[in-house]
Amino acid sequence: MRHWTVRDSSELYGISNWGSTYFSITPNGDIQVHPRGQGKGGVNLPDLVEEIRRRGLHTPLLVRFSDILASRVAELAGCFERAMEEYAYKGRYRAVYPIKVNQQRPVVEELVEFGRPYCLGLEVGSKPELLVALALIDTPGALIVCNGYKDRAYIETALLAQKLRRHPIIVLDRPTELENLIKISRELGIRPHIGVRARLAARGAGKWVESSGDRSKFGLSVSEIVATVGRLRSEDMLDCLELLHFHIGSQITAIRAHKDALREASRILVGLLDLGAKIRFFDVGGGLGVDYDGSQTNFHSSMNYSTQEYANDVVAAVAEACEERGMPHPDIVTESGRALVSHASVLIFEVLGVDRVAPRPEPGPLQEAEHPVIEELHQVWTNVSHKNVLESYHDAMQLKEEGTSRFNLGYLDLAARGRMEELYWCCCHKILRVVREMDYVPEDLQGLERLLADIYYGNFSVFQSLPDSWAMGQLFPMMPIHRLDERPTRRGIFADLTCDSDGKVDQFIDLRDVRNVLELHAPDGKPYYIGAFLVGAYQETLGEMHNLFGDTDTVHVHVEPDGHYRIEHLVEGDTVEEVLSYVQYDRRGLTERVRLAIETALRNGDITLEESALLRRRYEQALSGYTYLIQEG
Ligand SMILES: *Cc1c(COP(=O)(O)O)cnc(C)c1O
Repeated sequence: MRHWTVRDSSELYGISNWGSTYFSITPNGDIQVHPRGQGKGGVNLPDLVEEIRRRGLHTPLLVRFSDILASRVAELAGCFERAMEEYAYKGRYRAVYPIKVNQQRPVVEELVEFGRPYCLGLEVGSKPELLVALALIDTPGALIVCNGYKDRAYIETALLAQKLRRHPIIVLDRPTELENLIKISRELGIRPHIGVRARLAARGAGKWVESSGDRSKFGLSVSEIVATVGRLRSEDMLDCLELLHFHIGSQITAIRAHKDALREASRILVGLLDLGAKIRFFDVGGGLGVDYDGSQTNFHSSMNYSTQEYANDVVAAVAEACEERGMPHPDIVTESGRALVSHASVLIFEVLGVDRVAPRPEPGPLQEAEHPVIEELHQVWTNVSHKNVLESYHDAMQLKEEGTSRFNLGYLDLAARGRMEELYWCCCHKILRVVREMDYVPEDLQGLERLLADIYYGNFSVFQSLPDSWAMGQLFPMMPIHRLDERPTRRGIFADLTCDSDGKVDQFIDLRDVRNVLELHAPDGKPYYIGAFLVGAYQETLGEMHNLFGDTDTVHVHVEPDGHYRIEHLVEGDTVEEVLSYVQYDRRGLTERVRLAIETALRNGDITLEESALLRRRYEQALSGYTYLIQEG
């Protein structure tokens, strides 16, 4: 066999396809992160994990790279600036970050900071998010785009924000919101900045499309928009209407969907200008994709366009529509969230153990007087060849079924059944080895790889840390973060800590298709770390506490210009006590009950004093400890 190199690993896991410029593999086989670009300071990921562990944090660990956030903001803005130059566009570009994508304070604070040169604002969809935006945005001129359901408190807070020299725009998501807004702004004597969300006929494509189409939950139809203009004019408030917004969904995989939406929305824009509305902001919403599998295709976990192409299309659509009618160019606002924050976060967990279907690759030799079923299975195993794989597979299956019914009738004892199963799996393994060398795999044998995959038990919860993997079948790039100079000799799937059969990852990225197994390394007695990449968008807040596994430990890493890195915002994940309090258990109540049970046991002589002390200590420590498994040593 040819010598395995890190280049083979790079190709196998596709790191240069999905990793953008941020991730690579060192000659020693470790993943390196260079948040400021290649050659500007790299962080060795396994070393970083070791250092963080020595500081007392644990895996599973979420690592966020501030400089990747900075780089993403600069890249998005750069693409729009280039597009505007090319089309001699006269309006400005303004990024707005939708808080719901990742509301964690360090993330939002840093985005606001890195976004200052581009006047980055925030988009909010609820009262809690509005309160955050109000406190955090202090960039002069930065927008606060207010979406979502709005009660009086929401509207009043948004209006009063103007008195702090903020620029909140209250976007009408539903036609009924208008009267309330007119009434409240009148009472407060504050003229609102108003936006309308258009409900386009153009639809997104992919798994996240529900935000558009004629019956979408949000947005005003064209007739409702026209009525809104009339109503505002009658209140002498038409000048308040300054933003046109649409959002066709998240992770739009096809540029075509963006183009269709842009064409329709820019016609609406021109129509509104015609009606006398002074639209200053054209807000194209989110939906800019992330190429999770690196295939650059119209697949749900990919995208078939670049950020630059997207920016060009947005700018061109507005420029054309406005020029045709001699209208002024509005500022262009994007609400891209996923594209800004996905790359910055990496989840790292360690493998706790590996379960193999057949522990031994070869069955022991045939003994004297073994059951005929076993003899026949052994025969099948011996004879597996390129010529007869399909037949061997069918024979093995049939013999296994036969053996099982003999067992059920009492003609096969327990040890013999164990032997039969072992032989069956050995047959499957041998058949699979042949199948892997075949150009064409018969349908019956296609599931074999999956059937024989090793199960790698990971110290993490899919529901907490990768909820979209479970809920939507979204793919995230996953791979070992070290040992990449070594050939991965196993193929496996991941199972998490929860007692839920859905708590697993068994779909992996591939350039052409979806892979059912991931190439992994055989356990070598040392910790084996897996990284799940591009997890910065939506995963942190959508996560839930299945089996009461809580938030993971988190660190924020910042790379200095000289290439050294600094660890900031070291945040310990939930303790057991904390997650228990979310479901109404309090520490004192629990320890008191256990103490009473221990007293009873002591009185009855069921437990010694030393055992009772150990149990109490363990109980107390566990309450204060991490919800995940702690590695010893
Ligand atoms: C969720 C949302 C976004 C963010 O979408 P991404 O696909 O993450 O860029 C933007 N605008 C609105 C109104 C949203 O609801």
